[in-house]
Amino acid sequence: MAQIGGYPVYILKEGTERRTGKSAKEENFSAAIAVAETVKTSLGPKGMNKLLVDSLGDITITNDGKTILDEIEVQHPAGKMVVEIAKTQHDKVGDGTTTSVVIAGELLKKARELDNQDIHQNVIFHGFRKALVKAEQILNDISKAVDIGDIESFKNVARTAMNSKNIAGAQERFAEIATNAIMQVKTQGDKGYLVDFDNIQIIKKAGKSIKDSELIQGLIIDKEVVHSGMPKKVEDAKIVVTDAALEIEKTEITAEVQVKSPIQLQGFIDNEENMLKSMVDKIVAAGANVVFCQKGIDDTVQDYLAKNGILSVRRVKRSDIEKLTRATGAKITNRLEDLDPETLGYAGLVEEKKVGKDHMIFISGCRDPKAVSILVRGGGTNITEEADRCMHDALSAVKALVELPEIIPGGGAAQVEIAKRLREYAGTIGGKEQLAIEVYADALEIIPKVLAENGGLDAVEILADLRAKHDVEGGVVFGLNLFSGQIENMEDATIVEPKAIFLQGLRSATEVANMIVKIDDVIIASKLSKGPKNPGNGDFED
Ligand code: ADP
Ligand code: MG
Repeated sequence: MAQIGGYPVYILKEGTERRTGKSAKEENFSAAIAVAETVKTSLGPKGMNKLLVDSLGDITITNDGKTILDEIEVQHPAGKMVVEIAKTQHDKVGDGTTTSVVIAGELLKKARELDNQDIHQNVIFHGFRKALVKAEQILNDISKAVDIGDIESFKNVARTAMNSKNIAGAQERFAEIATNAIMQVKTQGDKGYLVDFDNIQIIKKAGKSIKDSELIQGLIIDKEVVHSGMPKKVEDAKIVVTDAALEIEKTEITAEVQVKSPIQLQGFIDNEENMLKSMVDKIVAAGANVVFCQKGIDDTVQDYLAKNGILSVRRVKRSDIEKLTRATGAKITNRLEDLDPETLGYAGLVEEKKVGKDHMIFISGCRDPKAVSILVRGGGTNITEEADRCMHDALSAVKALVELPEIIPGGGAAQVEIAKRLREYAGTIGGKEQLAIEVYADALEIIPKVLAENGGLDAVEILADLRAKHDVEGGVVFGLNLFSGQIENMEDATIVEPKAIFLQGLRSATEVANMIVKIDDVIIASKLSKGPKNPGNGDFED
């Protein structure tokens, strides 16, 4: 409410809440920092789990940053902006969510300190932006190129990504599965390789153990063989993939045919039978022994197919039909007349198997398939869910590295090195912006600090030791190995990460911190207001 000549002037709708200046800033800082604090204890291999219970009473046990923030339903708008970082990070690169949220929180803490020292928000804003630009350059300098044939490096980033998940004992197997899957489906783009997750199907099934998870060089289709007289297993499969109905389709128009004698009626029936039979004849003539049909298969056709020993599956989802073409090399046939050996796909084995309580069709042993499947198993639903998140992290790390084949050292090594070089850079800037760049550098060191804290180590001591290591020539690769509790060469310890994941996280964290720094007025309409459209997507704009 403004006052003109002693009279109140209302410019906002009744019931609107408004906070300006210091109190608005303070509230935003606090909310955003509080969100970041929630996930801090879950960072890294020694991070703690959270047990989350949703409004329906379903439980989730995880230390996955994005999952935690998803479940806790943050209400405060500034807090929501931080949650968005995790979502964006998850959608864009799939891992590094906790890291980016923790960095954002720390940047905001530092920004608040500067704000309390009456340093103008524009100075903080521009200082942070300069720091980010510089940090990206430093990241380019310290990252190492990886050869696409160097499979071990890809497995290393998968293992590092999984270090912080609870799948004791299955790491090695998951790293292998994730690497093989990504390598199998990667395609050559204009600027290097690309990976489309649509070509990797993940099927989760509780029962058995995590170690029984497997990669299928082909597909799994959640369907059964349509007729009990058909084989349940076909080796050396020649596969028809069709989107035509294997039945006589009803016509749109109603026509009336007068049947005058029983012979004529029999003629009709025979004719229909012949048409159905000729469908199967064409399939047999093409040399096929497996049929995947998007539509229905008439009972009579099923009988004939069974007599000919052809394994058939009906009503296969369109998306699976498409994956089948990529996995087996089949062409989708619309008219059976067009069938010939060329249009058939190939798989070493097509088999109906029982997985848990369900029957599924496994199409495996495909030649150079462009779509693959991963069957994730686990003792119970909760374990299977966490195993799935774990597989997702491994796949994301390998995908990120295939698309941008550069690694950085983990265990806080990269952050300590960037911080060190940023401080040197800050000195060249001078003025108050220098302060902002310096606190940005300090904020990055939150990563090794929290890793150490979560591991029950003395964070101050570890950070001091790390800094000392990085001051020595060639010290860039030194980080904290939480498995030994020692500061080590991270490349030797194979604790390495894809550059792309940290880079994306740093961009989002900086952007959101800067957005919050610039807010000095919070106006909340009396009705439920929506949060910002898409903050933290890492696309920096003025
Ligand atoms: P995020 O959600 O950001 O991926 P994580 O909980 O997965 O968070 O933790 C990732 C961090 O854990 C990275 O900084 C990574 O370098 C670190 N890390 C992974 N393995 C180790 C290890 N053996 N010792 C120390 N740090 C590790
Ligand atoms: Mg991770």
